[in-house]
Amino acid sequence: METKVVIIDEKNIDESLIKEAAEYIKMGEVVAFPTETVYGLGADALNAEAVKKIFQAKGRPQDNPLIIHVADFDIKKYVKEVPEKAKKLMEKFWPGPLTIVFNKQDIIPDETSAQLKTIGVRMPSSEVALKLIREVGTPIAAPSANLSGKPSPTRVEHCIEDLSGKVPFILGGEYSEVGVESTIVDITGDKLCVLRPGGITLSMLKEVDEEVYIDPAVMEKPREDFKPKAPGMKYRHYAPKAPVKIICGELQKTVAKINEMVQNYKDDGKRVAIIATDETKAMYKEGVIVSVGTRTDIQTVGKNLFKVLREFDDMDVDLIISEAFDEYDLGVAIMNRLKKSAGFNIIYV
Ligand code: AMP
Ligand code: MG
Repeated sequence: METKVVIIDEKNIDESLIKEAAEYIKMGEVVAFPTETVYGLGADALNAEAVKKIFQAKGRPQDNPLIIHVADFDIKKYVKEVPEKAKKLMEKFWPGPLTIVFNKQDIIPDETSAQLKTIGVRMPSSEVALKLIREVGTPIAAPSANLSGKPSPTRVEHCIEDLSGKVPFILGGEYSEVGVESTIVDITGDKLCVLRPGGITLSMLKEVDEEVYIDPAVMEKPREDFKPKAPGMKYRHYAPKAPVKIICGELQKTVAKINEMVQNYKDDGKRVAIIATDETKAMYKEGVIVSVGTRTDIQTVGKNLFKVLREFDDMDVDLIISEAFDEYDLGVAIMNRLKKSAGFNIIYV
């Protein structure tokens, strides 16, 4: 399949490009498009045949549900009820990086929800995404626009790399502002439960509901008999080609441990990459040293993490060693993605 790529100026949106992308989706095709979290691979959420093409293009497991993206607060057609807590979350965090899991209406095909009776709904803040949804006229079902298992795309080049020849149209825009996927909060149980940490942090959610908690499975290595609340939790994710190890502990000790490890691997003829930060990058002696951002502004780490993980694929490294981040605010989402990319291979110092 030939893939058409167009780049849209997000500050001066050319409506004809939105219309062109929308035409593909209305015809039952899939389109990659920018959002503020990561790039999405979208199809008409109400069209089962179109939705199947998302799973095919990504190589996504059939039981991993999609999120539907809306541009209107009135979602009664798609979800059974909107409880008071959900209304508050929507008012406070939409449009933005928060996905809310509701009980779904029958109009949402089982293909979209991967046979679940629930559906995740999000209103993105990206103006291009909102215009595209409005132009299509139905919600857009979209997971991240990467091949299943790889780091999510935060720039159009990543989508081209993964999906060229597999989808007919890629709409490119700016680098994704947040850089990690949306927070997913399930409101169908007794208490609000975070299934995936993201741009909306636990302390932000607590402003709406004190009792909200993070599913314990989010930060720990799943046990053998683990039955996840969100099917996506059980898959290895965000993985570059080379294995990843995380070094966790006080910063000086972390740097010393990484320096020691890199030297040992070098002696064995192995090339090691280091995920460092602006504060530490000068402290490393050997290896491919990449700063992922500054510790004084954790948003920069969120924004760069997937890009940095992808860059190593072209560098021919045998191992990637990463510093850890405080599991606080956006750091929770960052560590969740890092741990999954490392398959929970963590060394404590
Ligand atoms: P992605 O495909 O990368 O955007 O991931 C979407 C994530 O949302 C996956 O981890 C899914 O498991 C999760 N998700 C989507 N819909 C639901 C739902 N109804 N219940 C729980 N998790 C969901
Ligand atoms: Mg994904």
